[in-house]
This record gives sequence, structure tokens and C-alpha cells, in this order.
Amino acid sequence: FDQMDGQIWFNGEFVRWQDAKIHVLTHGLHYASCVFEGERAYGGEVFKLREHTERLIESGRLLGFTVPYSADEIDTATRELLVRQGLTDAYVRPVAWRGSEMMGVSAQSNRINVAIAIWQWPSYFAPEQKMKGIRLDLAEYRRPDPRTAPSKSKAAGLYMICTISKHAAEAKGYADALMLDWRGQVAEATGANVFFVKDGAIHTPKPDCFLDGITRRTVIDLARRRGVEVIERAILPEELSGFRECFLTGTAAEVTPVSEIADWRFTPSELSRRLIDDYAAEVTPKRAAAE
Ligand code: PMP
Repeated sequence: FDQMDGQIWFNGEFVRWQDAKIHVLTHGLHYASCVFEGERAYGGEVFKLREHTERLIESGRLLGFTVPYSADEIDTATRELLVRQGLTDAYVRPVAWRGSEMMGVSAQSNRINVAIAIWQWPSYFAPEQKMKGIRLDLAEYRRPDPRTAPSKSKAAGLYMICTISKHAAEAKGYADALMLDWRGQVAEATGANVFFVKDGAIHTPKPDCFLDGITRRTVIDLARRRGVEVIERAILPEELSGFRECFLTGTAAEVTPVSEIADWRFTPSELSRRLIDDYAAEVTPKRAAAE
């Protein structure tokens, strides 16, 4: 990845992709004092850019630091980088972290660095292919109690158990893992929120100890606009046998149907398909849609 071509926005400047380097004694690397975003551009526009930028700034605040650029500056940099990269459909990765001036748990005066990278995102699965559904295992680790970690922050440190869980699932031939929360309730996948369908209504866990995804909120809104009831509530794993459909939502996952979670089976059908299509229409810039 570090050998790719193009440019990266790094602390206010556009630098060559291969020159966007940091020191090994970076606080963010040793102590996970790092937050990031995952965004997608469709047809030359980053979907809900401002919401992502605001979440980045808020994630940093929850880790006790101030991102040293305004939301306007970050948005402008993102848009300019997308153009410089010559891309219209792409993945956008902003990241902010404490630098290498001091080494130790305390790093009060370390510089807060910010970078943005944008790369091509291979065109996602065709809806027909997505409708087969992906297989999930049940993760060993649980999402922490919000009294244990700042769960509303998209903080690098919170991804440690996601990577462990995803790797464990992949080793067993699964695509991803479903994580429970500290109480044993269904929480989310390792990089996406989870939804279930029963009797035409959508059920999804309340995001009280994990990220309330921007895609999650978008899809809830799309479902309600279609007159579908969306119930946010505590969901126990024992209930999974009672759901007919299951799907994940996330910037990367978009709307991805699930066919299996461990021993539970789901049949992606009409509602999943409709939401895949509605989401695809929603992310398409209105300007491009009119062309
Ligand atoms: N949960 C986790 C752990 C994630 O990494 C993501 C992706 N950012 C999400 C949920 C979904 O968030 P969003 O829809 O904002 O991408």
C-alpha cells in the first residue's frame, strides 16, 4: 500500500504518496492515540462528507485532543485530493494521531497530525451477487462497556479486537464476525452495523456501546421512507433464529445481506434487495443522476 502512486494530504500539504511517512516512535502507533474515518466518493462526491469530518473531529475530542484543522479545511482538502487523484469513485481515509515528540503514556505536547489518503475502490459487488449473502462467525471478544472505552470514537484502539475477530473468522472460512456487546447483546460486525428482518419490520441494536454508523442512520431513514417499521432495541443472540433476513451496513459494506451467523440461517430477500437499491440511489450525486 505504501508503494502506491499519487498524493496524500499530510498536515496541510499535498505530498507524494511514497513520502507520507512517520517515525516509528509515533505515539499513535504505540498507544493508539489515533482516530480515523472511512468515507466513499460516488460520482466525484464524498457521500456525507461533512458528517464524517465532524465525526473525525469528535473522535479526537473524545481521545482528549483537538484536530488542528477546521471541518471546512478538511472538507476542502478532501475534495481537492479527490480531484488530484483523478478519481470519482473511491475510498477516503482521513486519520489524526499524536506524533513522536514525546514517548510515554503522557504526551500532552505532542503534535496532532492529520492526513488524508484516497484510493480507487474496486467496483462493489453487483446486487445479484450481494444477494447471496455473506457468512459470519460469532466473535470471541465483545464490544466494551462505554465506561471502559470511548465507544463513540472511531478510535484505532477500538479496532484491535475487530482485527483479531475478523482474522479468527477468516481462518475458519467466514467473511466476518458478529460481535456481542459486554452485556451479551448483539452489537455489530467488525466494521459494519447489523440489522434483522422479521414480519416485515426491521430490528437493529441500539448503538449505545458502538458506532452509530452514518450508513446505519441513512438506511434507517430509507426504510422508514418506504413505510417499513424500524425498531431499535436490545437483541439477544437467542433471538436470531426468529429473524428471516439479516444485513450489514457501513461505508465499505454499503448494504450487504448475511446468509449465516454461526448456526443461524437467513434468506436475503425483497427488503434487503430494496434497501441495496435505495442506498445505491441515495449515494449517487443528484447532479450525476440527472445526466
Ligand atoms: N461499526 C464499525 C466498527 C465500523 O468500523 C463501521 C465503519 N465505519 C461502522 C460500524 C459503520 O459506520 P459507517 O456507516 O459510518 O461507515
